Amino acid sequence: MKPPLSLLNPSMLSGSGSLMWFRKGLRVHDNPALEYASRGSTCVYPLFVIDPHYMVLDPNAYSPGSTRAGINRIRFLLESLADLDSSLKKLGSRLLVLKGEPSEVLIRCLNEWDVRKLCFEYDTDPYYQALDDKAKNYASAAGIEVFSPVSHTIFDPADIIEKNGGRPPLSYQSFLKLAGEPSFSLSVELSWMPPVGDVGRCEILQVPTLKELGYVEKHQDEFTPFRGGESEALRRLRESLSDKEWVANFEKPKGDPSAYIKPATTVLSPYLKFGCLSSRYFYQCLKDVYKNVKRHTSPPVSLVGQLLWREFFYTVAFGTPNFDEMKGNKICKQIPWNDDDKLLAAWREARTGYPWIDAIMVQLRKWGWMHHLARHSVACFLTRGDLFVHWEKGRDIFERLLIDSDWAINNGNWLWLSCSSFFYQNCCQICCLHNSLFNMSDCCFQQYNRIYSPISFGRKYDPNGNYIRHFLPILKDMPKEYIYEPWTAPLSVQSKAKCIIGRDYPKPVVLHDTASNECRKKMGQAYALNQRLNGRVSEEDLRKLRRKFDEDEDKQEPKPRRQRQKLIK
Ligand code: FAD
Repeated sequence: MKPPLSLLNPSMLSGSGSLMWFRKGLRVHDNPALEYASRGSTCVYPLFVIDPHYMVLDPNAYSPGSTRAGINRIRFLLESLADLDSSLKKLGSRLLVLKGEPSEVLIRCLNEWDVRKLCFEYDTDPYYQALDDKAKNYASAAGIEVFSPVSHTIFDPADIIEKNGGRPPLSYQSFLKLAGEPSFSLSVELSWMPPVGDVGRCEILQVPTLKELGYVEKHQDEFTPFRGGESEALRRLRESLSDKEWVANFEKPKGDPSAYIKPATTVLSPYLKFGCLSSRYFYQCLKDVYKNVKRHTSPPVSLVGQLLWREFFYTVAFGTPNFDEMKGNKICKQIPWNDDDKLLAAWREARTGYPWIDAIMVQLRKWGWMHHLARHSVACFLTRGDLFVHWEKGRDIFERLLIDSDWAINNGNWLWLSCSSFFYQNCCQICCLHNSLFNMSDCCFQQYNRIYSPISFGRKYDPNGNYIRHFLPILKDMPKEYIYEPWTAPLSVQSKAKCIIGRDYPKPVVLHDTASNECRKKMGQAYALNQRLNGRVSEEDLRKLRRKFDEDEDKQEPKPRRQRQKLIK
């Protein structure tokens, strides 16, 4: 399970310097760009640029943080950088931190420093693709060698797409067939690094603290319990792998989404997101465990299967123009979602009146991580399940608040959960996977018919409501009979629990049974429209269908979407 040992030694140095540009890939293990930068160089400049695009404080944001990242993820990143700096110091180097627009900072460094090789991990996110083009163009024109290996993922998404005739595979099974067994070798473990070169007039910073970046920590009442960095990633990995039986029997979607003291999954996603953990190393460790057990689960449900879901979404995202939008996205159903900012705010601020949904949204704000099925519940509720709000709005909130926020995976899962894509293409497999989660009679209907109940789904795992009591302490004394539907508790019970519904905790924003039926109808009509027009749905077609939805709603008395549930006194 140990990565190969270093072949590098000081006598191999020749006469040039390298710049190792860290963005993700915040690790020293299995880091081919870092290995290449170190090989044969007289000096290495390990650079990280604090990018205002992600990091500038936004005092007007709905929760502490920048416009694009909540404070938990920024803190996780700073912890990861401090850990990387400390690992580099052990190798005789250090992290050089600079602030500014990354391509400008990088070009200045390439100009002023003794650099012959520019090394950075290949990144498929559109933001980095644009940035990297600028860097590569400048470096090539200046005669600087560029080395940009694929090491954030196990497979190279471009290879898979090429094997598929230039199009990304749209189902997990076809992805598996095309991908086959991966053939990578982990990069060597560095035991030593060339010294940092002369930085001239550049003002190098230490890894900043939240305070130094202008964030006042007291605005956040609770921080995520997950600490950033490669050391913590490897510790967590070892801990997960130490229970070989657990690894061998891992089966998703089995597992309790309400388990928060000891989560039911690895919680390695934020470490994979920032590259504190190499997905290739993780994959190899899992294969090593499998070799030593009699039986183990397989994709899509196994732990290796989870990593392959990640690969699948990376591949589709890379090969699909406008993957993060409904408009202009060929694999996305065109659906006239509503733009109800009040409903969106209720969801975001954990005020839907459904304790299961609200507790998950509190966990998102406080921890930046929730179990996969918890994410399913709230994403379904916001979109096709109850509120019919556009998936892009929910995606934006997840993207900002998750500590594992990942462009390809987040967008992919929102497309899936809103039944805008994937779900129908992966139908049979999902039917099998989710039979345990839904009423069997729903199986093989159109997938949008299968809606997570905001009441009974959570109750199945956690009848006492411990998860809700933890994240929504206002409900901590509510008897278990009412914890998932507190508006049905008699007033005397609410008084005794010191939680009056409508005063201390909101009434439900919609009536689930009515709202979900309405959503099903709307999804049916939207799917029919997409089918009739063979996916070529125009803005005008969507406007017409939206008007029809509004007329249908007006005909109903009383208006069910806004209907308040009666309190039983
Ligand atoms: P484990 O079950 O231990 O799995 C190990 C690894 O496999 C994960 O760390 C992750 O890298 C990968 N993985 C697991 N499930 C999936 C999946 N469904 N799709 C792709 N990769 C997967 N995951 C993110 O990493 N970033 C996101 O921004 C993100 N947004 C999501 C949004 C929605 C609406 C939904 C429903 C899911 C989202 N996921 C996202 C996928 C999944 O929920 C998380 O990867 C998982 O819960 C992370 O916990 P874990 O590390 O304990 O997972």
